[in-house]
Formats: sequence, structure tokens, C-alpha cells
Amino acid sequence: KPDLVLMDMHMPRFNGVEATRVLRQMAPYNALPIVYLSGESDVGMQVEALRLGGDQFLMKPFNPVLLAAVVKTRIERFRETRRSTRLDGLTGLLNHTSAKSRLQALVQETEAQGSLTVAMIDIDHFKAINDTYGHPVGDQVIRGLAWLLKGRLRSVDLIGRYGGEEFIIALPGVDLARALPVIDRIRRDFSALPHAHPAGTLYATFSAGVAAFPSTHHTAAGLTEEADHALLRAKQLGRNRVESAD
Ligand code: GH3
Ligand code: MG
Ligand code: MG
Repeated sequence: KPDLVLMDMHMPRFNGVEATRVLRQMAPYNALPIVYLSGESDVGMQVEALRLGGDQFLMKPFNPVLLAAVVKTRIERFRETRRSTRLDGLTGLLNHTSAKSRLQALVQETEAQGSLTVAMIDIDHFKAINDTYGHPVGDQVIRGLAWLLKGRLRSVDLIGRYGGEEFIIALPGVDLARALPVIDRIRRDFSALPHAHPAGTLYATFSAGVAAFPSTHHTAAGLTEEADHALLRAKQLGRNRVESAD
């Protein structure tokens, strides 16, 4: 997983421009910084190299201080962009896409007999909170739940903002029996968490649906679907409660 490639122009079997074009067609490398470091002095060739996917062209002989600065700043900017495309802006949690792929990775890492618990969490009557107190207060409630989840779960756990006021969590190595009290405790504490609004404080609740391995499905999609069904049941049964898939 490189952070940057220093690319030569003229190499024995393929040239740098061809190598860059190949890298740019591979999804994991399409935004990777590629900096040419070459003795090529023809400006037309240099421009062509940039046009076909290079980010910058440095000529040999190079100034080591300049090279170090280019490498450092390009990597910092690349990491920052990667971070902002993976994380949700409001909460700093994984966004929908990265939460989904992280869950897939967790499912793959879980052995046949291993445990993994997934919960879908959705704030109750959130539309009414927005309508009564305004969207910025609604945002504060979403941030409050994100903060509580971050504080209560382990660093190995997945926490993602799945949609507007919907979250997904996954607890590797934790079976349903151990996960349920943990999630229910978070539910209880969230319902007691005061959220400030211009005229005082409000309280919000959430409902959660939980599914776990071992189960009938051994896929991330199957597990989220089971958790979703359980969430629907939690809503139907009156909200502010945790329901499990079985
Ligand atoms: P339920 O108890 O059945 O979940 O009802 P609900 O009102 O929470 O559900 P509904 O799906 O009807 O409403 C969700 C609302 O969340 C609608 C949407 O305007 C709001 N919303 C979505 N994203 C955001 C956000 O980022 N900030 C704020 N403040 N509101 C959001
Ligand atoms: Mg809701
Ligand atoms: Mg919802």
C-alpha cells in the first residue's frame, strides 16, 4: 500500500508513462501520488507524462531538499483526502461506503466458529426533533450519539454512520449474548443524555436491531439484512428498545 510512487521515465521493459497509465486504471491507485524523477529534459515529454496521470515532474539531477519537501507534502495531502473521503463529515465516523467495506473485511476475518455481532441503530422520531428544534439541533443529537458510541465501544469495533440518523456497529469476537447487554446499556444511557437547544434540553432515544454469527448467513449483506429486520421489529414494538434477529 504505497503512499507515493517516485517514477522513472526510461526503464528497461516499460517506460514510466506506460506504468503510470496501468496504475491509474487500478482502483486502489487511481489517486495515488505519482511523481516523476527523471533525466528527461524534453518539456514536451514531461508535459505528456503529466497529462497521462503523473502529478509532478522533477528533473535529475535533483535537489534533495526539494525532493523531500515534494514527497512529504504530496503524502500529507493524499492522506488528508483519503481520510475525508472515508469519514463522515458530521461525526468523524466511517461513512456508509467505508463502513460497508470494513464490515465485509470483518466477516472475512471471522472464522467459521467465530463470533461477530452487528447492530443497526436508528434514532426514534428524529424527524420530529428536526421539525420542533431545527436541523442544527438535530445535528447535535446525531453527534451526541456518535460520541457515546465512540466512548463505549472498543477501537477494534466498527462504528459507521450508515445514513442520516442511522448507525451501524460491529463487534468482532463478541457473541449475541454478550453484545445485547452492552448495546442495551448504550440505549439506556443515550435516552438519559441531555441535548441542549436554545430553550432548554431535550432527550432522544434510539431503536436497535442486532444480528450475530454464527447464523444462517455468513455474509455481511445477510447479517445487515437480519439486523435491519430486527430494527424494524424494534420500531413496531414501540421504539427505544433493542431486538435481536432470532
Ligand atoms: P423512526 O422513529 O421511525 O425512525 O422515525 P424518524 O422520524 O426518525 O424517521 P424518518 O426516516 O421519517 O426521518 C429521519 C429524518 O432524519 C429525515 C431527515 O430529514 C433527517 N435527517 C437525515 N439526515 C440528517 C442530518 O444529517 N441532520 C439532521 N438534522 N437531520 C437529518
Ligand atoms: Mg429514525
Ligand atoms: Mg432512519
